[in-house]
Amino acid sequence: MSHDPNCIFCKIVAKKIPARIVHEDEDTIAFEDLNPQAPTHILIVPKKHIADIHSIAESDRELIGHLFLVAKTISSTKGLDKGGYRMVINNGHGAGQTVFHLHLHLLSGRRFTWPPG
Ligand code: AMP
Ligand code: ZN
Repeated sequence: MSHDPNCIFCKIVAKKIPARIVHEDEDTIAFEDLNPQAPTHILIVPKKHIADIHSIAESDRELIGHLFLVAKTISSTKGLDKGGYRMVINNGHGAGQTVFHLHLHLLSGRRFTWPPG
């Protein structure tokens, strides 16, 4: 599996640095964000190192779908679907991406405004 030794999320996948893991399966891991922007702020991450949306390959089709199903499972388990939640991908520096390992932000527990900041 593709792995970048300098990538912080690859280190979490490899359990080289700690994280508050809320879900793990063969292909994905989800953990609490270190700097939460809502009462619930979880990052859903493919174990394979994919830097950003533009690095997704045709062969990742199933994996990308799987990320959304993990989001659904976590949301149902935690009851987030009742009040609503927001899923965000910051793609590229201009959009605020700081960790270049693809991840879905799952945010819930407060009201969100639109348009986003
Ligand atoms: P982004 O800015 O969209 O790339 O999101 C990166 C997110 O990763 C930010 O919300 C950070 O707070 C979060 N983050 C960075 N390092 C860690 C870590 N070691 N454990 C958990 N979350 C982290
Ligand atoms: Zn990585």
